[in-house]
Amino acid sequence: MPEHDDKAAAATARKLFAQQAVFIAGAPGYDALPKATLPEIAFVGRSNVGKSSLINALTGRSGLARVSKTPGRTRQINLFNIGDALMLADLPGYGFAKASKTLVGEWQHLIVNYLGQRPNLRRVLLLIDARRGVMPIDEMAMKLLDRTAVPYNAVLTKIDAIKPAARAALAEQTQRQVTSHPAALAQLEMVSADSGEGMENLKLALATLAGA
Ligand code: GDP
Repeated sequence: MPEHDDKAAAATARKLFAQQAVFIAGAPGYDALPKATLPEIAFVGRSNVGKSSLINALTGRSGLARVSKTPGRTRQINLFNIGDALMLADLPGYGFAKASKTLVGEWQHLIVNYLGQRPNLRRVLLLIDARRGVMPIDEMAMKLLDRTAVPYNAVLTKIDAIKPAARAALAEQTQRQVTSHPAALAQLEMVSADSGEGMENLKLALATLAGA
């Protein structure tokens, strides 16, 4: 892409995310979700991966997605409308230390229902904690995502916690693990909600998916 196109795309992405993000709904299951009217991107990841912080950083609204939410509120899909152009879907986190089989089953049911049926779903972002890399529970989630065949990208969160010199090796290792899965895409983002690193690139990728 010529440089001026790059700049124009980055400006479009910035403009999109500068608009007021609006919380649309929190639904306990797929059937309770409002109808899909906008291109939608779903965020999924282990509990504590930094999903709420990332959504807050993307939208510039610190209270939008709750950080360290109270249990009970986390078992739902939350939808955020970005400038009437893009919907972000915050899916419940997985990997809770003492999760019962029932809870894991409920989570899987909700995820499979949502991913398998949501008509305007463009992409899933699978968040991976940069401090931990791909964990066995993330492998489990990727197998589930593979089954629904929705394309997904990995996003390494909390990249500020990794020394710059170690980042390339981490990215390579993560990419190798992720792309061994059939529905995974090669593009890997590295972001920090705290420092803002990588946020421009992520916004650009999301704006492109929205067709903005
Ligand atoms: P969620 O459970 O996935 O929604 O995760 P949260 O957004 O609640 O974050 C979990 C923990 O990780 C909190 O203690 C955050 O302060 C911390 N955290 C989130 N994002 C970042 C980041 O970009 N860098 C660092 N160093 N810590 C982060």
